[in-house]
Amino acid sequence: MTGKKKRVLVVEDSPIVLKIIGHMVRQELDESLYEVDFVDSMAAASQLMEEHTYFAALADLNLPDAPNGEVVDSVLAKGIPCIVLTGTYSEERRESLLKLGIVDYVVKESRFSYAYAVKLVNRLALNEFIKVLVVEDSTTARNYVKGLLEQHLFQVLEAENGLQALDIYKQHPEIRLIITDYHMPEMDGFELVREIRGQSDKTDLAIIGLSSVEKSALSAKFIKNGANDFLQKPFFPEELHCRVIHNLESIELIQALNDAANSDYLTKLYNRRYLFDVGGAQYDHAQPNKPFAVALMDIDHFKAFNDNYGHEAGDAMLVHVGQLLKESFSRFLVARMGGEEFCVLLPGLSQNQAYTLMNNFRTRFEDEGMYLGDEYIQATISIGVTSMKGDNLDSMIATADELLYRAKEVGRNFVIGDDSA
Ligand code: GH3
Ligand code: MG
Ligand code: MG
Ligand code: MG
Repeated sequence: MTGKKKRVLVVEDSPIVLKIIGHMVRQELDESLYEVDFVDSMAAASQLMEEHTYFAALADLNLPDAPNGEVVDSVLAKGIPCIVLTGTYSEERRESLLKLGIVDYVVKESRFSYAYAVKLVNRLALNEFIKVLVVEDSTTARNYVKGLLEQHLFQVLEAENGLQALDIYKQHPEIRLIITDYHMPEMDGFELVREIRGQSDKTDLAIIGLSSVEKSALSAKFIKNGANDFLQKPFFPEELHCRVIHNLESIELIQALNDAANSDYLTKLYNRRYLFDVGGAQYDHAQPNKPFAVALMDIDHFKAFNDNYGHEAGDAMLVHVGQLLKESFSRFLVARMGGEEFCVLLPGLSQNQAYTLMNNFRTRFEDEGMYLGDEYIQATISIGVTSMKGDNLDSMIATADELLYRAKEVGRNFVIGDDSA
């Protein structure tokens, strides 16, 4: 994320609570992304809200100069998402506040509740980038759900029935969550879920089905048809928010696990395992009449580089190679094979084309060194590139490896292709 920091306002009169929240803020909110203002009165909060645009606010219901939650009204009047902090829990109060459109209501009980409140700010910042599709034929019901999602800063798309929803999903494959009614004209909720599950599975896209209490069997059916979760109508705002957050967090967790399993920790390139999984499939599905090239490369005298500049500089150089590779081959699969060895798959490229690209990369890498403190340091790389298809990706990589070995033999900082071998 680039640009201006997000500003967060915390209004709380208890010094102890302020101290705990301050601690949570340092722990949970990235300093490079957020700037947090702490004040202990409504007057100070009002003043700051005149001066700055706030992304979100945490506001205490009971302040010396605002004993009845007046600060919440003024935060909401400015259109700022508001997380309410309160010392006492009252069912009535909770409902009336949620109706006003606050993000959430947190009782000041333990450090967990403060952590929850502060983490919500991060959640809101993530939500801004998440598209949610609401599928519901009743305009009133649709607007209700849309309004609740917008309180949590989601980007909301709408459809009146299953068919429309499929169309919108096709145009916006980045949608992460669909909330769908069951009974709708043209295409009902079950059919929609089945259609969607033919394209995206539960770990890529979450679906929450809505059903009414009278037809409670629908809930289970939603899940059996492939929905992640369901919610019975009518529901309280909090119920929707909890389900939405819970389901998105599950998807994000799985995504993070997948990313970790498929990528190299240091360079953030794909790892060997991903190369053989996804690259292997790319190779197997490549059209027999189209060319396919594979390049394998290895940094020259990297052991000496480490010895000269230290292991950390070596790591930085690996990251540097990774960045240049990502920039130079953004259309292609690039992976770190291990150590100082990298692989690029070039489907559709002839030997000549692949050789030219690789030689350009070799010279670019030779020219663009990196700074280690004030010192400008450089390295070179040797590359083997083949377009001779073998039985599988492994055998092509083995061929590229032989060519790479030749490139080392002839003196390094060299590209060797099939013809030049
Ligand atoms: P050549 O030109 O023949 O490839 O020589 P080389 O020194 O690059 O090859 P060699 O295989 O002898 O040494 C590879 C070196 O790469 C040794 C190892 O310490 C270093 N290396 C491998 N992985 C990493 C890493 O993650 N970080 C750092 N800093 N060094 C690494
Ligand atoms: Mg309906
Ligand atoms: Mg090497
Ligand atoms: Mg090596």
